[in-house]
Amino acid sequence: MPKKTTEESSFRDRPINIDASGKRKWVYARQPKGKWYMRRTLVAWMVLVFLAIAPFIRIKGLPFMKFDIPQGEFYLFGNLLYTQDTYLLAIIMAIAVVSVVLFTVAFGRLFCGWLCPQNIFLEMVYRRIEYLFMGNYRKGKPKEPGKFKRLGMHLSFMLISVVFTNVFLMWFIGPEGLARLIQEPVQENLKGFSIMLGISAFYYWIYSNFREQVCTMICPYGRMQGVLLDSQSISVIYDYKRGEPRGAKNVGDCIDCSSCLAVCPTGIDIRNGTQLECIHCTACIDECNSVMKRIQKPYNLIRYDSVKGIETGKRSVFTTRTLAYAGVLFVLFIFLAFTVSRRTSLDVSLLRMPGSLYQQPDEQTVMNLYNLKLINKSENARNIEVKLLSPEGIVEVAGKPLLIESRGHVEAVLMVKINKATITGKNTDLRIGFFDNQELLETTTINFIGPTK
Ligand code: SF4
Ligand code: SF4
Repeated sequence: MPKKTTEESSFRDRPINIDASGKRKWVYARQPKGKWYMRRTLVAWMVLVFLAIAPFIRIKGLPFMKFDIPQGEFYLFGNLLYTQDTYLLAIIMAIAVVSVVLFTVAFGRLFCGWLCPQNIFLEMVYRRIEYLFMGNYRKGKPKEPGKFKRLGMHLSFMLISVVFTNVFLMWFIGPEGLARLIQEPVQENLKGFSIMLGISAFYYWIYSNFREQVCTMICPYGRMQGVLLDSQSISVIYDYKRGEPRGAKNVGDCIDCSSCLAVCPTGIDIRNGTQLECIHCTACIDECNSVMKRIQKPYNLIRYDSVKGIETGKRSVFTTRTLAYAGVLFVLFIFLAFTVSRRTSLDVSLLRMPGSLYQQPDEQTVMNLYNLKLINKSENARNIEVKLLSPEGIVEVAGKPLLIESRGHVEAVLMVKINKATITGKNTDLRIGFFDNQELLETTTINFIGPTK
């Protein structure tokens, strides 16, 4: 095992960014340089561009992605899901969770370093603004910069926080909603304006102050690493077999220069082994490679590998665990496909009118009243006709006909009348069909109450 760089007696007995007196240790991470940083910059730009343009994309007139919580409408890849489709959202969530677990078992916190918006905002946007004003921390903590530099940096942080908030809001209210929010006088939309200001202030605080603690102390995904990773998971790892014993006069390749530590945005020493604070940012790989180049040793003393890979020279992500999770994922996808294929374009909610009992308009007829709500999930307007499929009887809609525009909804009262002779007991099951132009769109079963014989 690698030698611990911190005293054994105090190693890991407090969070990495808290000192012995309980004070926060500010991380002055040096800007990395190298091929991994360039690749990560490229991916980060692609993610940022996607986040900014996705709300503008429309597929067949519907938003590509939009989470309209007040309206209870969720657009996923151009498909409209309502809150009534929560079973579909639950399956999609289950698929997302199993995918994350599978991905983590195989590749550790790769998502954090490459795709997580929190990390991209902090490392690729705010931290770069900071380097512009403060330099890139070549010698650790800088001398106190001038007042104007600090002010300029914080004003830039505030400005970029407002920009990110507006992009974030577009995912919920769409570009049109955001344009309305911006154009309307503040006093007419005080609530929307306060939300925008509140989120901007929150972003500013997170990225100017709280920073990497989101990843090291709050993020539940980070906490899951302890149970998900095993000796075959691929992660950013220090080759202790090659590097130890460390130090310029020792025979290992690590010269103990601490450069890998200087660039780490979470302030850890990767030579202490896999740690949950490691967000796979690859900065230490780049930095150590530049040291290896200088001392003319082979690259990749720190690299993507597994503990088993270091020990045996062989690595594979196809383990029993990953294959088992892949199997679960496959079953969930089949289930999702089956559920989507059975999804109807009309959502029906039919409930007995609260407090109503049966009525007898004449000697032979019994009537029940129901509240009906229909949601038209299709692209076409519907003219719905309601029929009693069994037993025989009459369904009447009180009020206007059931005309529903595309993606609209309608509510009405249904009066269902059946012959007293058909009543089988205190409760009788009715099957009701909903038709548009003679096409049966949906059926539902409801309970009918009547007099017992
Ligand atoms: S950068 Fe490389 S050589 Fe320097 S301390 Fe880290 S692992 Fe050792
Ligand atoms: S240990 Fe390396 S990969 Fe992990 S967070 Fe620190 S610099 Fe990034």
